[in-house]
Amino acid sequence: MSLNLVQAAYIVAAVLFVLSLAGLSRHETARRGNVFGIIGMAIALTATIWLAAERAERPGLTLALIIAALAVGASIGLWRARVVQMTGMPQLIAMLHSFVGIAAVLIGYNAYLAPDPLTGVLTGSAETIHLVEVFLGIFIGAVTFTGSVVAALKLSARINSNPLMLPHRHLLNLMALLASAGLMVWFVMSHALLPLLLMTLIALAFGWHLVASIGGGDMPIVVSMLNSYSGWAAAAAGFLLGNDLLIITGALVGSAGAILSYLMCQGMNRSFISVIAGGFGTEGATFEADQDYGEHRESNAGEVAELLRRAKSVVITPGYGMAVARAQAPVADLTSRLRKQGIQVRFGIHPVAGRLPGHMNVLLAEARVPYDLVLGLEETNEQLPDADVVLVIGANDTVNPAAVDEPGSPIAGMPVLEVWKAREVVVLKRSMASGYAGVQNPLFFRDNTRMLFGDAKDVVEDVVRLL
Ligand code: NDP
Repeated sequence: MSLNLVQAAYIVAAVLFVLSLAGLSRHETARRGNVFGIIGMAIALTATIWLAAERAERPGLTLALIIAALAVGASIGLWRARVVQMTGMPQLIAMLHSFVGIAAVLIGYNAYLAPDPLTGVLTGSAETIHLVEVFLGIFIGAVTFTGSVVAALKLSARINSNPLMLPHRHLLNLMALLASAGLMVWFVMSHALLPLLLMTLIALAFGWHLVASIGGGDMPIVVSMLNSYSGWAAAAAGFLLGNDLLIITGALVGSAGAILSYLMCQGMNRSFISVIAGGFGTEGATFEADQDYGEHRESNAGEVAELLRRAKSVVITPGYGMAVARAQAPVADLTSRLRKQGIQVRFGIHPVAGRLPGHMNVLLAEARVPYDLVLGLEETNEQLPDADVVLVIGANDTVNPAAVDEPGSPIAGMPVLEVWKAREVVVLKRSMASGYAGVQNPLFFRDNTRMLFGDAKDVVEDVVRLL
């Protein structure tokens, strides 16, 4: 395959990636977007492997080795994709980001220790640019790697989701950046391995600290931010490998992730700079973890069925617990029964409900809940004061009034679904435990709230039976 043919294949793949991103931005076109992405990646892989084999000293052996590595990687990937639960997706995605990070680090060291003979000996400014590329590629890759590993550990609850509050943590971050800048100057001037190794250690610690110091409530922004970093790490690797398609793809992922992080910050009323700087400016938060809000009121399936039967309008606000219980099908069943009885039902979806952007929308679409019943945060909040009953199904942080009423709370300022403004609120969950941000929820103790304890799927099925 000639170089021109490879470049043509790269252009087609790049266009398909752009179409894929455009498709993924809407429910209705998401499946098509995925197909474009798969075709684009198949073309990109075929062209790249072919080129690598053609340039190799022993093309047959190179091709066989790449295909063997691909077969192993693809088998593991297919197996993980098939067995992963929807609730395990966030940590899987974070781990995949960490692979991009470590790949960028390895490619950077490879470009430094064993330069591509085809590029010839670099001199002057070309050499300086190459060394800066190597340095930055390794830096971004190392930060992405450890940052993503911490994110995966936090998302899978293997480590606590509370923010790590080291003394002088912002000064530590600043010193890490300044030391890395100094090491870059040393590296470019001396071409020595030592500054590269020292920077790698600093970048690994920096990435770890940056994500560890962010609290559970802000994790959605961190996940999309790491998505963006992994894109920039891939783009840096593209520069090192001289692969234009990798540069384009990395830049697309990097900017899509950055835009998503920015939108999430806006949606959650957080400062973008504060979050990417590891929670900069959040140390003023002081709150009492075990504040006494009084007594809660318990209910049962029969009482809730009766409450629903008498309602004219019902709003359902699902959260992570609905995903854990896989209650979306019974919830869809409940919805259609209520609607058949002439009761208006709508879903209020918080942008960070669940553990993935769009998590609840995907589950409701899977259960075939009509799109027009699904409202966003602002629209739901406008309608909540007129709702007779709100069913909070496995949601917690996203309906926590502490975000509005308690300025010292770690989630203060985050817009929430103001469910307490409805006439009656029923909260379905298994216990009085707090949500992902680890903050107690005063909603559970309000006069118009009843707690309906149990696994969301079982409880909704009970209510459906009694309706
Ligand atoms: P939360 O994580 O705040 O709370 C979920 C609740 O579900 C828990 O309190 C739990 O209570 C309950 N629950 C768990 N299992 C079940 C079950 N089987 N049946 C019934 N209830 C169950 O959920 P939200 O969706 O309200 O908030 C999402 C949180 O996750 C936010 O803090 C958000 O910032 C964060 N996050 C979101 C991401 C995203 O992209 N969407 C990514 C990373 C973090 P109990 O144990 O008592 O049952």
